[in-house]
Amino acid sequence: MKKIYQQTVEEVLDRVKSRESGLTDEEVKRSREACGWNELTEGKKKSILQIFGEQYKDFLVLILIASAVISGILGDVESAAVIMIVITMNAVLGTVQTVKAEQSLQSLKKLSGPQAKVLRDGAVVLLPARELVVGDVILLEAGDMILADGRLIENASLKVDESALTGESLAVEKSIDPILEEAALGDRSNMMFSGSFVTYGRGRVVVTDIGMQTEVGKIAGLLKTTSEKQTPLQVSLEEFGKKLSILILVFCGILFAVNVFRGEKISSAFMFAVALAVAAIPEALSSIVTIVLSFGTQKMAKEHAIIRKLQAVEGLGSVSVICSDKTGTLTQNKMTVEDYYIDGKRIAAAAVDISDPAQSCLLYDSILCNDSTNENGMEIGDPTEMALINLGKRYGVEAAEVRRLSPRKGEIPFDSDRKMMSTLHRIDGENRMIVKGAIDCLMTRTEWIWTSAGVRELTEKDKEIIRQQNQDFSMEGLRVLAFAYRDIPDKHILTAEDENHLVFLGLIAMMDPPREESKAAVAECIKAGIRPVMITGDHKIMAAAIAKRIGILHDLSEACEGADIEKMSDDQLKEFVPHISVYARVSPEHKIRIVRAWQQRGKIVAMTGDGVNDAPALKQADIGVAMGVTGTEVAKDAAAMVLTDDNFATIVKAVENGRNLYQNIKNAIQFLLSGNFGAILTVLCASVFGLPLPFAPVHLLFINLLTDSLPAIALGMEPHHGEVMKEKPRSADESILTRNFLSKIGLEGLVIGTMTMIGFMTGYHQDGALLGSTYAFGTLCLARLFHGFNCKSDHPVILTKQFLNNPWLLSAFVLGAAFITAVLTLPGLHHVFKVETLDLVQLGFVYLYAFASMLVIQLLKWIRIKLRKGGKNSGF
Ligand code: ATP
Repeated sequence: MKKIYQQTVEEVLDRVKSRESGLTDEEVKRSREACGWNELTEGKKKSILQIFGEQYKDFLVLILIASAVISGILGDVESAAVIMIVITMNAVLGTVQTVKAEQSLQSLKKLSGPQAKVLRDGAVVLLPARELVVGDVILLEAGDMILADGRLIENASLKVDESALTGESLAVEKSIDPILEEAALGDRSNMMFSGSFVTYGRGRVVVTDIGMQTEVGKIAGLLKTTSEKQTPLQVSLEEFGKKLSILILVFCGILFAVNVFRGEKISSAFMFAVALAVAAIPEALSSIVTIVLSFGTQKMAKEHAIIRKLQAVEGLGSVSVICSDKTGTLTQNKMTVEDYYIDGKRIAAAAVDISDPAQSCLLYDSILCNDSTNENGMEIGDPTEMALINLGKRYGVEAAEVRRLSPRKGEIPFDSDRKMMSTLHRIDGENRMIVKGAIDCLMTRTEWIWTSAGVRELTEKDKEIIRQQNQDFSMEGLRVLAFAYRDIPDKHILTAEDENHLVFLGLIAMMDPPREESKAAVAECIKAGIRPVMITGDHKIMAAAIAKRIGILHDLSEACEGADIEKMSDDQLKEFVPHISVYARVSPEHKIRIVRAWQQRGKIVAMTGDGVNDAPALKQADIGVAMGVTGTEVAKDAAAMVLTDDNFATIVKAVENGRNLYQNIKNAIQFLLSGNFGAILTVLCASVFGLPLPFAPVHLLFINLLTDSLPAIALGMEPHHGEVMKEKPRSADESILTRNFLSKIGLEGLVIGTMTMIGFMTGYHQDGALLGSTYAFGTLCLARLFHGFNCKSDHPVILTKQFLNNPWLLSAFVLGAAFITAVLTLPGLHHVFKVETLDLVQLGFVYLYAFASMLVIQLLKWIRIKLRKGGKNSGF
């Protein structure tokens, strides 16, 4: 049997039981029953049990279990059992957190998956990759990802990047002709393969293979290296955590030796040292980042920003320049035609007369040289083109009918480098090529002009008049398309050569008003120390007019054109970029240079993009932002963040979220480290003064369970507030663990340790070591729970609304406090938890010491703020 690429289009359609208008619902069902869903079987996911097992991967936990078992065998069965239970509860907690974080990342992946335009029952529908079936007819245009393998059935200058599959970096041209001989993958020019993408042109393909049957599916085993890269913050925290662990281990080692020397039983001294190490080593340090970021991305998705790479959230917090497209991002992308200009006259859209041959010619040409459709109220395509079709509709001219009467015989598709497109039609017995595009690009190719008196040569004066008209439109903020044509006898395949010697027909000016929220978002950006920059393919004057309205630009001297940049060296551009707020008539290559220039100035750049050629700039930017609605699949694939509403204000919101999440992570880390430090200080202090150990191993583990990760994660969920946008962007290379931050941790740990020690001494003096350690245990546990409120902000929060605004933190506090109160007061538990049962007064003291630690820390924050306001550095 012939291979698919050796068959004709008809044979292939027959083979997959399809037709050019696509499958019916019934056929889709049947095909799916036969071939399943279009998905690659993922690399084996970890089961919950495996994740649970991994919680015990920590060497210290294993040692602790071993020593608990040994001490159980030697007689202390109760404490061994409690230690095992606490460790198991910790592992359960860790498992729940990991699974939840994973789930939220998975749901995010689903949201940002690519889609295809599929013909089903003759109508175009947008479908996620998974739903494609064999026999589906897919419409392709520049920027589309190929999501299944298929045979080309229509081709308009298609070029495809198959590098993911073949390694060939140059885009390959496609054809629909069958290939007679055997052909290697890279030579099957009539086939499209999943994993590649369209760089140019248009076409249709019928799906022949899906899922694991595709070429990429066959080698999918090689591609299953899907482990998430760690964010820079995670890497630096992990390094810090390692160093800290070594320090703690050394400390615990010395403590073990000292305790043995002081006559403690080796086994119990060992168990204590290991329990202290387990409790004090902040193993949750880098996982807290994953958890907080992945939950944060859920919130961002609801606010229209889908994060594709977790690192982006971190980066967003330090963005200092946002380079944004104009059309659709700063403007509404709801184009309406405002004016025609033809035969020397400006005509308002409402006054177009379609009985006038010139005006109707411009109207028909604008519908023919156009890829968009508006059928049954379903608008598909570029809003610029949609505006042209909608104007026709307004005058009763249906696009489908016009296109049926003068079908397209050839085309050179639009691309943002040429800034124009051409189509070839049979009109009034002539082979006519219609060209539309940016006026400056068209004028250089135009030699003639259409007038009511006939076609004549285009003079310099004509050009001047047309340019002036364009200038007038632009100053009103209108987007202008120029139209020209050329009769080409008997020609079906258009080449770039044909787009010369054109006859100028007219101009169409459209309005695309700025988004209402753009002005406020730009103002917020500037307040937050972020530089907004507009980069557009549009005309300079027009772009500047819009930029001025929304506050990006104040003077025309802050606008330049792509051609100006072209003349500059990279060094010159680096000096130039701070002075420019609007770049007009840029091509995608200019975008990369602008990003690089800002980066060379040490800035963190977010850059938006939508076209296939934008992918390199999106990758170059620190945060590539793709448009979810109008963007190509290729741009989305290259981006770190996708906007589901294409809105500039969403980027600013995302930056705010990024800053808030960073702050929350910082607060959570501060909480973890200062609390752990408090515990170590207490033990150190007791050892130095020759006092008995202030805690039993089970105390330390219990504190670790209740007061470590739960409040830390709750702090990561702290409600966001706008305060962060009043500050300048954080420098990207600024480490989270600054001296200032570490000194805060030290000081707060000192306060917690001191109060715990006071608690210990109170009990010790009342009734010896057991009551002392009961007090210390209770005070440390509660002080750490109270400390959660301290870590909400750098400001004192105790008498503010913010104190109670985090339900997660409140829940963690109530849960922890209820547990510890039960342990300290229920008589049956004292033996198990190695405590003395406290009466109400004693419990009151424990609460008082813990609460006092919070008050002191709040006071220290207040003093720090006062000193800072007074212009002095507090030194802590
Ligand atoms: P932005 O980069 O802000 O999104 P843009 O959408 O105007 O701006 P491009 O899409 O690259 O940028 O368009 C550049 C120019 O090409 C436009 O100013 C217009 O003159 C012309 N143009 C845009 N769309 C079409 C089209 N569908 N057909 C022909 N010419 C077009």
